[in-house]
Amino acid sequence: MTTSTSIDTLSEQGRQEFFNSFDNVLTDCDGVIWMLNNVISGAPEVMNGFKAQGKKVFFVTNNSTKTQTQILEKFKTLGFKACSKDVITTSFLAAKYLKANMDPSKRVYVVGSPAIASELDDLGIKHFGVGPDYLQSSVPTFVENVKLEDDVNAVLVGFDEHFSYPKIFKAASYLKDPNCLFVATNTDESFPVNGTRFIMPGTGSLVCSVKTCAGREPFIVGKPFSYIRQVLMETSNIDPSRTLMIGDRCNTDILLGKRSGFKTLLVLTGVNTYNDIENYRKSDDPELQELVPDYYAESIASLKNIFPVSL
Ligand SMILES: [Mg+2]
Repeated sequence: MTTSTSIDTLSEQGRQEFFNSFDNVLTDCDGVIWMLNNVISGAPEVMNGFKAQGKKVFFVTNNSTKTQTQILEKFKTLGFKACSKDVITTSFLAAKYLKANMDPSKRVYVVGSPAIASELDDLGIKHFGVGPDYLQSSVPTFVENVKLEDDVNAVLVGFDEHFSYPKIFKAASYLKDPNCLFVATNTDESFPVNGTRFIMPGTGSLVCSVKTCAGREPFIVGKPFSYIRQVLMETSNIDPSRTLMIGDRCNTDILLGKRSGFKTLLVLTGVNTYNDIENYRKSDDPELQELVPDYYAESIASLKNIFPVSL
């Protein structure tokens, strides 16, 4: 049976061995180092401490609604030392993937946020589609009058607060061309809204609508898919076996780590609980067993105790 070790109960020697077992730290953001706009206690000391001890640090988020520059502002405000190469968003990854794979003379139809548009602009990729596009008539009238562009070589779907029937229609119609690339930022299904009856649809819900209509599967750049590992190996020369992935969500953060050959650590300050780990561990389903982290901790603050020099 797969096991998971508590960081909080490691012996002095166990803590040292753990600290010495990795050179690179990848961490998710929401639920690990902050909750919306509130920093999680101890997180800046730990992440800045890793850097001070010579570890490479990367902040990896499936959020596609902020550019690297906007997220850097948040890091600064909350007390984290970070520069642009440390921050990996799905809007950045999607732009990087399209730059390498699409016909540069053509355009991307974007179902997504202004942050995605900005990342595409930075790499000189032509695009359109960001912003409201609502049904202004009956569906038959819309279908009679809709115009498609001729120079579309990719459809990119990320989080879009203006998601609509015309956008699904257009995205799926462009994707009828088998040469048109289909890229999605991530597939996070939903987000709980704590203390309420509400559930917020995540990007995965939007991606599912487009892929169901198009009858095609997207290339997904975000967690848990391994494009991030490829990018980090190419740009930062990381050794996966000397890399620690920290997250609060097993089906994205921990699964990325497992698929990439990283060590994995779940913190219990976000989506998944200790009971979830126990249920996955006891399950006969290999897909659920893959979600068991190598380590877990009450909070990222627990990692203060593994540093050779106290912070
Ligand atoms: Mg998270």
